[in-house]
Amino acid sequence: MMDSTSSPQVDSTLRQAQSSPQKVSIVSLGCSKNLVDSELILGSLKNAGYEISSEKEADLIVVNTCGFIADAKKESINTIIELSQYKHHGNCKKLIVTGCLVERYADELKRELPEVDAFWGTGDLLKIGEILGMKKIKKIYKSTPGTLYDPDSPRVLTTLPHTAYVKVSEGCSRTCSFCIIPKLRGLMKSRPADSIVGEVRNLANLGVKEINLIAQDMTSYGRDIGTNLENLLRELVKVDGIKWMRLLYCYPWGFTDSLVRLIAEEEKILNYIDMPLQHINDRILKLMDRGTTSARIRNIIDKLRKEIPNLTLRTTFIAGFPSETEEEFKELLDFVEDMRFERAGAFKYSQEEGTKAGEMPHQIPDEVKEERYERLLEVQSEVSLNKNRTLIGTIHEGFIEGTENGNYIARIPSQAPEVDGVTYISGSPKTLPPDSYPRSQRNKRLKVGDLVKVSITDADIYDLFGKVVS
Ligand code: SF4
Repeated sequence: MMDSTSSPQVDSTLRQAQSSPQKVSIVSLGCSKNLVDSELILGSLKNAGYEISSEKEADLIVVNTCGFIADAKKESINTIIELSQYKHHGNCKKLIVTGCLVERYADELKRELPEVDAFWGTGDLLKIGEILGMKKIKKIYKSTPGTLYDPDSPRVLTTLPHTAYVKVSEGCSRTCSFCIIPKLRGLMKSRPADSIVGEVRNLANLGVKEINLIAQDMTSYGRDIGTNLENLLRELVKVDGIKWMRLLYCYPWGFTDSLVRLIAEEEKILNYIDMPLQHINDRILKLMDRGTTSARIRNIIDKLRKEIPNLTLRTTFIAGFPSETEEEFKELLDFVEDMRFERAGAFKYSQEEGTKAGEMPHQIPDEVKEERYERLLEVQSEVSLNKNRTLIGTIHEGFIEGTENGNYIARIPSQAPEVDGVTYISGSPKTLPPDSYPRSQRNKRLKVGDLVKVSITDADIYDLFGKVVS
């Protein structure tokens, strides 16, 4: 049930013209988990009669925010302020703010942003269309955090037609000391496996060929409902039409031997693992409450590299965690250099109220965090470039994702959508060899979602360059 922290407000304009469909536009900030929420919000609003439009034309604008770290909060606030201009210079009659920032700061936002008509947390998102269609709406909607959905939940896909994200669980039951997510999304709640399989079947029927499985803590999937990730994957690989499945946001825990074997042997599960590690020094890992050690992390990387051929390993680190010494940071740098991750991202530690680490003494000055962050990225740039160069001369399947300057852009298995680079294809659409795509499509130009074979001819730090081969 919804509950409110403020008294109801009368809505007199949102549904004035029931006869002419209202238009809605959404801006989704933050991660792919938030994007799925945005797609569910759009689905709920579409079901309630809204048409999707540009921001300029929209009667209703929704900003789905991220409130994870300082930079994300700043981006969310700036976006809200920017979009509120459409209430003065556009068609917009209602501006609604949803997501993690609301879950965290609803009352403050209500005070500071009077131009926003309603604030909605991370819970009960599937009801947003129904509730906003009512004559009276409240200023704040907050319920149990986090929204789970099922195959029948209306959802409007906003990614390219051949690829989609599927959220297997919501929330997180870990207690990492720097992280506010469990407070914003609740403890981990897994979706039943048949709900996920049903959704993937529906997506395959719509023409989706790549499924990116997402969660806050992928490897813990199912622990709360008596199953596990391996069981889920064994069911998912049976779905016809799906060609690639990718595991994102894995915790360095829970990679059983049989799960690793399954990833290695099953063709549809890509040899790509995203596993945020955050740090490698034992003292810092302990302060982070990561529940693991440097030795265990090194073991799991060894095991994954040994068992899974040509593995692409993506990870993330935090630079400048409270009390991190230069020596401990240097240990992290050496680790990044030694482990040769295909991809590694970094965050500057963000001191967050409501977290254990936010209260820790010896917070690191901003300029030191910045300097460590830059050094970490510099080391990884060198590694990424060398790793990408090893692909020159190899051939991969890749989905066509668009064109740039008359040339196609493709994405191969080692390139996850949004977060990784792409493969630029040389040769204009007209000059591609006719036998470079499936027989049924010969004499046609390639289109987004076509699967082609790409030979890699060059590489830089982020992207690859190649040509289509038959
Ligand atoms: S596992 Fe990830 S989402 Fe969960 S508490 Fe740790 S950092 Fe946050």
